[in-house]
Amino acid sequence: MTKQKTAIVCGAGGFIGGHLVNRLKEEGYWVRGVDIKEHEHDNNHADDVVTGDLRDINVCQALFDRPIDEVYQLAADMGGAGYLFTGENDAAVMHNSVLINLNMLETSRLNGTKKIFYSSSACVYPEHNQMDPNNPDCAEHTVYPASPDSEYGWEKLFSERLYLTYHKNYGMEVRIGRYHNIFGPQGTWTGGKEKVPAAVCRKVAEAEDGGEIEIWGDGKQTRSFLYVAECVEAVRRLMKSDFLGPVNIGSEEMLSINDLVHMVADIAGKEIRIKHIPGPLGVRGRNSNNKLIAEKLGWAPSRPLKEGLEKTYEWINSKVNSLQEA
Ligand code: NAD
Repeated sequence: MTKQKTAIVCGAGGFIGGHLVNRLKEEGYWVRGVDIKEHEHDNNHADDVVTGDLRDINVCQALFDRPIDEVYQLAADMGGAGYLFTGENDAAVMHNSVLINLNMLETSRLNGTKKIFYSSSACVYPEHNQMDPNNPDCAEHTVYPASPDSEYGWEKLFSERLYLTYHKNYGMEVRIGRYHNIFGPQGTWTGGKEKVPAAVCRKVAEAEDGGEIEIWGDGKQTRSFLYVAECVEAVRRLMKSDFLGPVNIGSEEMLSINDLVHMVADIAGKEIRIKHIPGPLGVRGRNSNNKLIAEKLGWAPSRPLKEGLEKTYEWINSKVNSLQEA
């Protein structure tokens, strides 16, 4: 009989972490999920659920009371553009996330866990490569010379390097994925930390047919979005491979925010007008470049954006309806 594999998922009370726990459980792992908060949507099916602050190294150390084969480090102080790009939370974002990464790497090393996944971000890419909404360049090697457009991006870049030093000096098998706008059910959909697809789904769900929704900026800024199940599949492939990364985990199906609104309105079966208002925007264009991940892992998203949006809209619409009924 093969021994059951064991994993810690940091950030298991969060959106992607909750889905990753489910995937590891499906694959037969024993999973310990840790987060500073409980999962907002009860998507935490870990064998052992720990509520703790990963900025505290004693909390991290206590997670290793049994042999752990793999660590998935997804915990970070983050949010949507409204939280990350106003500048008001920069010190907290950098301080909190760096501490979590320092602690989890060091305690993994001290306890003999060699394999650790780190979730980096498309926000590491230089701003100057993302000025043209029709032609952003996010190939992995373009990250240097570095010039991310946010402190959140700088923290991710520093932490990537931190993980790589633990590989170089201690032989740890680190794996680094750069996520590009992951979305799906059970993500934050209201309250200011939600990302664009969730915010658009909520606004469309709340609007009357023929109504109007507000969008920050001119809506011509472009992005691509990856459905969460696809993201988790890519993470698992990366962990099973001998490729360290950093590698993009995203979709190349780029569209403007205005077109995203039209797609969601179409799914909802509503006529929606867009009112453009001032707000934090981020870069003009961002798209994943999947050449490297296709070459190294044979991975690409398996389904079109619209299918993931349909599932997400359905979930958010049911939340909006139950709030309106309450
Ligand atoms: P999320 O905010 O839902 O999950 C992060 C979790 O980390 C939260 O549940 C939060 O409570 C937890 N956390 C924060 N500080 C903590 C602490 N001190 N101790 C313990 N737990 C703490 O975000 P997500 O969308 O699931 O993202 C997961 C990871 O992927 C993050 O590292 C994020 O930076 C990265 N990422 C996500 C996206 C995306 O589109 N969702 C894009 C790029 C990178």
